[in-house]
Amino acid sequence: MFRNLLLVLTSLSFFSVQAYWQQKVDFKIDVRLDDRAHVLSANEEITYINNSPDTLSSIYFHLWPNAYSGSNTALAKQLLSQGETALHYYYDEDLGKIDSLNFKIDGQVLNWNYHPDHRDIALVELRSELLPGDSILISTPFRVNLPQSLISRLGHDEQAYQITQWFPKPAVYDEQGWHPYPYLDQGEFYAEFGSFEVNITLPSNYLVAATGDMTTSSKNAEHDFLSKKVKKTKLFLDEGDFPIAYSDFPASSDKLKTLTFKQENIHDFAWFADKRWLVNHDYVTLPGSFKRVDTWSFFLPHNAKLWSESTDYINKSVLFYSEEVGGYPYQHCTAVDGDLGVGGGMEYPNVTIIGSVEQPLELEQVIMHEVGHNWFYGMLGSDERTYPWMDEGVNSYFERKYIMVFHPEAKFSSIAGLNIARLLKDNEPLLTQYYWLAYAYEASRGKDQPGGFSADQFHEENYASVVYAKSAMLFNYLAEYLGVGVFDKAMKTYFKEWKFKHPKPQDLRLILEKESGQDLTWFFEGLLLSDTKVDHGIVSVNGKEDSAFVKVLVKNYSEVSAPVKLDLIRNDSVIYSYWFDGFKDKKVLLIPTAEIGHVNNIDVIEIDHNHVTPDMNRENNYYEFGVLFPKMEPFESTFLLSILKQDKTQVFYVPFLAYNATDKLQLGLVMYNSLLTEKRMRYLIMPTYGYGSSRLGGVYKGIYSFYPKTRKLTKVNLSFEYKRNALPTSPRNGYFDKLEPKVTFVLNKNKPTKHKFTLRYSATKMFVPEFSTLKNEYLTATYNVKNKRVVHPFAGSANAQVINGRHGKVWVDFIQKFTLDREENTIDVRLFGGVFFGQKATDLTHRFRLNAGNGANAVISSGGDVVNRGMTDYLYDEVYLARFHSSTNFLSQQVSTKDGGFRTGLFLGANNSWMTSINVTVPSPTKYVSVFADGGLYPGGEKVAFVYAGGIQLNIIKDVLEVYFPFTFSPSIRSNYEAVGLNQYAQKIKFLFNVGQYYNALD
Ligand SMILES: [Zn+2]
Repeated sequence: MFRNLLLVLTSLSFFSVQAYWQQKVDFKIDVRLDDRAHVLSANEEITYINNSPDTLSSIYFHLWPNAYSGSNTALAKQLLSQGETALHYYYDEDLGKIDSLNFKIDGQVLNWNYHPDHRDIALVELRSELLPGDSILISTPFRVNLPQSLISRLGHDEQAYQITQWFPKPAVYDEQGWHPYPYLDQGEFYAEFGSFEVNITLPSNYLVAATGDMTTSSKNAEHDFLSKKVKKTKLFLDEGDFPIAYSDFPASSDKLKTLTFKQENIHDFAWFADKRWLVNHDYVTLPGSFKRVDTWSFFLPHNAKLWSESTDYINKSVLFYSEEVGGYPYQHCTAVDGDLGVGGGMEYPNVTIIGSVEQPLELEQVIMHEVGHNWFYGMLGSDERTYPWMDEGVNSYFERKYIMVFHPEAKFSSIAGLNIARLLKDNEPLLTQYYWLAYAYEASRGKDQPGGFSADQFHEENYASVVYAKSAMLFNYLAEYLGVGVFDKAMKTYFKEWKFKHPKPQDLRLILEKESGQDLTWFFEGLLLSDTKVDHGIVSVNGKEDSAFVKVLVKNYSEVSAPVKLDLIRNDSVIYSYWFDGFKDKKVLLIPTAEIGHVNNIDVIEIDHNHVTPDMNRENNYYEFGVLFPKMEPFESTFLLSILKQDKTQVFYVPFLAYNATDKLQLGLVMYNSLLTEKRMRYLIMPTYGYGSSRLGGVYKGIYSFYPKTRKLTKVNLSFEYKRNALPTSPRNGYFDKLEPKVTFVLNKNKPTKHKFTLRYSATKMFVPEFSTLKNEYLTATYNVKNKRVVHPFAGSANAQVINGRHGKVWVDFIQKFTLDREENTIDVRLFGGVFFGQKATDLTHRFRLNAGNGANAVISSGGDVVNRGMTDYLYDEVYLARFHSSTNFLSQQVSTKDGGFRTGLFLGANNSWMTSINVTVPSPTKYVSVFADGGLYPGGEKVAFVYAGGIQLNIIKDVLEVYFPFTFSPSIRSNYEAVGLNQYAQKIKFLFNVGQYYNALD
């Protein structure tokens, strides 16, 4: 079967080579930069050569500067969905567009129309049909208003220019037809190969870094200009005198210059211009061909120190990829310091732009990655929009390999933005582990998406964790399994056969299968293009001495027959490794004892000790000989936050101090076992000791998760929680206890609106030693919706609750935020409504309240029973700083956003029939102050009672820590305050301290 399959594949490959064709498009562009208006004025001539077997009557053109023309473009919508509002609430001067188009052939004007959905795509009608093998010359003037460069890739930041995706450009026509794509930020490109000649005119004191080679006509003067810059840069770097002051833009020269750049066999042209740059220049000689490649870097004076070695990084990268994949065919390779607010970089043929980075290794990593795109994107011109793994995934494999080769000991903190990692010192993971962790962060939570998705289908986090990190892991897995030699040879063949062409996934697969002689369905369909997780586990080990083999029973928990690696470990190092072909379910794997000598020579058998595979559950990978629990990994406890080590049973702990009015000062310890990756079984243990109450209390919580294979249901959590805290009662303090088993169904995590259904049983107990105990039982069903989008987010819940099996209530709440502007100021409207059923009027514990305060003191009745009448939070979900304390304690003025949600008032409105309310919050010019207004209706004897309140709120942390100053309220609220004797203004101020939600961080 194996051979037969191979025959079929080989013949297919032969067929596809015969049938392959691609269009050719040659460009000649004259462009002039107006650096006052930030406008490009240009003329373009395109020679379109129809190599297809089809007759064409029209051509799709990309007009991508129009992506920046307003809030209705595909780019604007994508950015908005990712929380970026620059094109939604735009400033006119930040927008960009392309206009003044006039397509002509032989001086005759062509008809053209915008794409019905996208102003950044046009359909240009040819005057006569373009036959197979024929070519036409189309010309058009065009004018580009450059947008603000922070929006995406094209634009300017004052007089720093990034001129990318800037000219009218035909979409690709291939055997699948036309590929007109609107410009996107997440989702890259696909373009026809051809030649470029670009003449750039701009003030003569600009430096220009561009695709292509400068032609001799403009070379000499420019060469002198560059040489002077290189010398000056060397002087600065040698003296260590970094000229910060030079970061201001000098005035533009009145003199203009025109630079001509030419290149063959490329599919895009980008250029960058700045007057401030320093310049490094070097070159490398490619082994074998002795070809010289000039390397250049252009960087801002304030980044001089960081960029001082930048041409070394380019040299190393050009050599690395030339050796690993195939020789660099162009004459220069250049990197540009874009100093963008956002990190990372962006690749173009011959030239790449690097965003803001902080550390040398991070700069090296980003430069090498972008230089690598000259191969996986530049020369191997795959359709990046549809198959993003073909460029980003394969390139990330080489990036990981580069780090393995040149920086095997580098730690997380050598890339920026990970101060936590720096704190960890020895516990810090290696940089090469980043790929597994980045993938597992999403995948362990069931939030990852299939790797075969097109770029625009990925959720933002998954684009990085699946397309880059998971693909890098998987290609490394494949290389290790096939043997690095076989894999390397396949990649070289792939390059040789497909450079300057448009390879499809099948083309890479055919070559890998041919070179390895293996059917790689498990790799492509099974893992790379799917969201199936690899999980092998050791079930048992039989190492009887008389046998010729150690028998290891391994279970494959996934449905994909992926290969598995067993490592034999002695004294903490791997002494033998064995790869086994994939299998379904369980299989006994045989390790010949002849090689090991004696089974006593090994301490541990482990699946994939060095993390070559993306095994998602490493807790079942371990077997230790001669110990009581052979499958338990070595135990390790770690102070503070630590990043998961995959081969240890870990506990994280953080001591903390807290305070509440009953316990006074509390000393506590948080312990948990799940952090970066989500473990199926996870716990949160938070014991506390109160110095005022002399009592132990705390929160103890365990969760077990199932991740069903259906898309609709992301996760099912079974959890159990126990909570205890002291309560102020007289004559002595008591406690409350809560026991709560719960099941949660998390639906559709990758959709913008998250849905969650929860069913929980809560048994609560309030008791005072030597008195009787107040017990209650609740069964609560809750359906939650939440949308955290940046414009108009909302959240709500519908709830039904049975209380002590006899009566109950239903209620709904919904908060809609209306976003007003780019600063994300919102008008918040909360609605609440609820009804009790089967309730006796005498039950004073369970009532709706206008004001969800801290509750009233529990008392001991004359009969010795514990009685409580004032509980708002009878499920003990919230953290109250002075639960049940009387209103003389300031901390008792805490409220939570429950029931009526009033931000002032006392007991008014408490009833066990029904209640409805509205709470409105309106922003002020400062983010820290809002205006609030609350209104509520409830049964008030004969008729319906209406109350209101309003005032100013201080947002210390919005929705978490807020303080409410009432300015006005209903007479009934006033008389309620007076009746209780709270007449001072300060006693009517309330505050929100909403931290109870953090107990649910592990859910
Ligand atoms: Zn990339």
